Amino acid sequence: MTPELSLVVPVFNEEETIDLFVATVTPLLEAIDPRWEILFINDGSRDRTLDLIRAAHGREPRVRGVDFSRNYGKEVALSAGLDHAAGRAVVPIDVDLQDPPELIAAMVVKWREGYDVVLAQRTDRSSDGWLKRATAGLFYQLIGRMSRVRIPANVGDFRLIDQSVVAALRSYPERERFMKGIFASVGFRTTSVPYSRPERVAGTTKFRPAALINLALEGIVSFSTAPLKIWTYIGFLAAIAALVYGGVVVVRTLVFGIDVPGYASLLSIMLFINGLVLIGLGVQGEYIARIFAEVKGRPLYIVREWIGGEPPTA
Ligand code: UDP
Ligand code: MG
Repeated sequence: MTPELSLVVPVFNEEETIDLFVATVTPLLEAIDPRWEILFINDGSRDRTLDLIRAAHGREPRVRGVDFSRNYGKEVALSAGLDHAAGRAVVPIDVDLQDPPELIAAMVVKWREGYDVVLAQRTDRSSDGWLKRATAGLFYQLIGRMSRVRIPANVGDFRLIDQSVVAALRSYPERERFMKGIFASVGFRTTSVPYSRPERVAGTTKFRPAALINLALEGIVSFSTAPLKIWTYIGFLAAIAALVYGGVVVVRTLVFGIDVPGYASLLSIMLFINGLVLIGLGVQGEYIARIFAEVKGRPLYIVREWIGGEPPTA
C-alpha cells in the first residue's frame, strides 16, 4: 500500500513531546485519508525517544522510525526522511507542535488543486524573541541579495511536497545541506497557506544560538559565491587607494624633501590591509572546507535500526 501522506518528523531528545504529537496528529490524518504514515527520524537522542517510537509503532504500525547512529542535525534528519518517506505527498513537521498539524488539511486541499509545493507561511513571529526576529530578518535580506535562489522569508521546513518534488530533492548529492535553500532551488508549482506559530508544547529548543549562526553561514556559503567574489573588488579598491596615496607620497617627497615621520599612519594602514587579507583567506577557507567535505563523499548519515521495516524506496 502506498501511503497518501507521509509525515517526516526529525526528533532529538523529544521524550516529552512524541506521544502528545502522535495523539494529536493521528485523528487529523485519519480525517484526511486513512492511508498515512508517520516517519520519525531519531537524530541520536540520548533520552527515551527511541523507546517511545518503538512503543508507538507497536500500537500503530503506520508509525515508523529511522534510528541514526548519532546526532547528525535537523537538516540531515530531514534529508533522511525524504529519502525514506513512501507517501504521494510528504510533510516535514516539527514534533513540538509548533508547526500546527491542523494546517495539513488545508495544504492537502491546495495539493489536490494541482500545486506541487504548499508552504506554511508565518504571518507573525511573535513566539520568537526580538533578537531571533531581527537576525532572521537580516539573514533573509542578505541571502536575497546574494543568491539567485529565492528563499521565501517566514517559511520554515513545514510544507507539503508532492512525490515528484521529493524525487527531485533526492537527486541533490551535497553533504553540506541547507534544506530551506535546497527546497527553494527545485522550483515547481508553489503556493502557501498562512499560519501563526505557537510556542513549543513541551521541552526546550534544540538549537543553541551558535547552531543558528552556523546554519545562517551554511545557507550563505551553500547558495552564494558572492562572499568569494567580493574580494576581487575589495582588492581593486585597496590597490587604487594605494596607488593614489603612493602618488601623493612621491609628489610630497619631491616638493618637501624626505620626511621620516609617518610611523602611525604606516602601522595603521598595514594592520588594516592585513586584517582584510586574513578575512579574505578565512572566506576562502569556508568554501575550501565545503569542497573537502564534498570530495570525501562520506555517507550523509548512518542508520542503526529501522522501526517498522526498511521501506522499499530505500
Ligand atoms: N531536531 C533534530 N536534530 C537536532 C535538533 C533538532 O532532529 O539536532 C528536531 C527537534 O527534535 C524538533 C525540530 O528539529 O522536532 C525543531 O527543533 P526545535 O523545536 O528545538 O527548534 P526551534 O523550533 O526552537 O527552532
Ligand atoms: Mg520548535
